[in-house]
Amino acid sequence: KQKTAYEIPKRDWSSDVCSSDLRGIPVSTGVCVGKILILGQQRAAISRQEISESDVPHQLERLEQGLLTTRQQLHEIQQQVTQAMGAKDASIFEAHVLVLDDPTLLEGVTRMIAEEKVTAEWAFHVVAERFAKTLEALPDDYLRERIADLRDVAARVVNNLLGHEEAVDVARLKEPCIVIAHDLAPSTTARLDKKMVLGFGTDVGGKTSHTAIMARSLRIPAVVGLQDASHKLHNGQTALLDGFNGLVILSPTDQTLFEYGQIEQRQKGFEERLREIHDQPAVTLDGAQITLSANVEEAADSAEVKLAGGEGVGLFRTEFLFLNRSTLPSEEEQYQAYRQVAAELKPAPVIIRTLDLGGDKLPTFVGVAQDAAEMNPFLGWRAIRFCLQESAIFRAQLRAILRASAEGNVKIMYPMISGLEELTQSNELVEQCKAELRAAGVPFDENLEIGAMIEIPSAVMIADSLAKRVKFFSIGTNDLIQYTLAVDRLNEKIAYLYDPTHPAVLKLIKQTVDAAHRHGIWVGVCGEMASDPAMVPLLLGLGVDELSTTPPLVPPIKYIVRRLKLAECTELANFALECESSAEILTRSQALVSRAAPDLFGGRA
Ligand code: PEP
Ligand code: MG
Repeated sequence: KQKTAYEIPKRDWSSDVCSSDLRGIPVSTGVCVGKILILGQQRAAISRQEISESDVPHQLERLEQGLLTTRQQLHEIQQQVTQAMGAKDASIFEAHVLVLDDPTLLEGVTRMIAEEKVTAEWAFHVVAERFAKTLEALPDDYLRERIADLRDVAARVVNNLLGHEEAVDVARLKEPCIVIAHDLAPSTTARLDKKMVLGFGTDVGGKTSHTAIMARSLRIPAVVGLQDASHKLHNGQTALLDGFNGLVILSPTDQTLFEYGQIEQRQKGFEERLREIHDQPAVTLDGAQITLSANVEEAADSAEVKLAGGEGVGLFRTEFLFLNRSTLPSEEEQYQAYRQVAAELKPAPVIIRTLDLGGDKLPTFVGVAQDAAEMNPFLGWRAIRFCLQESAIFRAQLRAILRASAEGNVKIMYPMISGLEELTQSNELVEQCKAELRAAGVPFDENLEIGAMIEIPSAVMIADSLAKRVKFFSIGTNDLIQYTLAVDRLNEKIAYLYDPTHPAVLKLIKQTVDAAHRHGIWVGVCGEMASDPAMVPLLLGLGVDELSTTPPLVPPIKYIVRRLKLAECTELANFALECESSAEILTRSQALVSRAAPDLFGGRA
């Protein structure tokens, strides 16, 4: 059973595709052609190798040379980073140089070479790792923060000793390329040099992984689930990556390039038409208006929201402010980011979701969440659970959001609410933060609205109790689907089971909508289901009041809404709630979209 949700109807490329080409799951539309760059294979395995007594001086020399090369590299990187991002960001490399100067570490390495008669790289690796383990056990936060530096530097020294090229710095790529990796963590994706990355493909992954979501919001064509692409492909090969159909075509022929060129042209023509409805509301042909907002990951994204014609922000994924750094963002830094988005989009609402770290979004700051890998991170220490335990981090964020709420258009939303207790505890913390700000005379919005994400089946079951205590719901279908169907949203092997039109999922959405409306509050959908053209009639028919999509999809989703009739959507939803086959529901919903908007995606619908 092949599900086509989140993608445009397929063209059959089977005749054009040769055996050397790779098929995966399309997660971000668009086509690109370029040279392949494989990430993540630079760090070769290192093993213990013994040497003879007479080789010891040679190994000591090698060590010295390796340290010298590393020092030069660090110096160069530091200068480049200072130029590009300022001295503050470059200071991390000073810490790296300090590691190289550590006398105890160096003494340990030289002693090991001489006494145990092993190669310089093995000795450096073992001694540095021993140091890291010792630091891990210390209660001192500052020292513990040095572990990541230590490991980074050790890997660099070992790479240099092994004569391996320096690991690719994804933030500073030399030429445009298609990035291929076994997996890309959201933190790595956030660091990618966007000007140089034409597209990317990964061996593993699913449509609603945060990496896939980011690809869509960055408008970078992407394919996941390519199985062993990172081993089969080589650096420098020319390929075409088709983010519509999930293909990587090696050495594309002129004919293939010509056909893809035509697709791009049609796409551009359609985008032109979408610009005409930029300032129009998302209203159906029979007059039902919904709110169409956008999801953002960082403050700079507010420009994208305006460009797309989004009516504010339905989901600000604040955790991206916390990734790729060794220290926590301060309350002030967060405040500036939240205020910037609120000020730029005012009076449109900006819904700031509190920290959703965990799952596939793992922080690198020390002392928190990285002590041990979890067996089931999506069922683990994530989101509101993390925040309620790490209450200092949570409070700083709440205070920052409250301060930003002085702009008048900010709302708070809690992720991963599984029970009432989490909601009431969070609300209590908000009240405490408000009292502190009041006492200090710091302005904030006294009427700031608070909402809950509905993304766990238990939250749906108690939606009436939750609805009494919040001002809105936003359904996180990405998680709701994975938790309802017990399907890891990142696992390409079971991606066929990740099924937005599963009757159970639709019933849960309906129950949530009904509970919200019974209590007079609105309900939105901010999961990727809202960004899927084929899902729009179903969600409208189920009674959803708001859709929040990735910014580039705001225009096509609006286009579809404006061509549908709510009455037809309601009829479809009623059918779906009775139907036992998810495939049939999907087919009917797709057919309705195709009928209503046949010119969607260049008339190929
Ligand atoms: C969701 O789960 O649908 C959601 C919007 O949150 P996230 O994708 O960040 O988990
Ligand atoms: Mg979620």
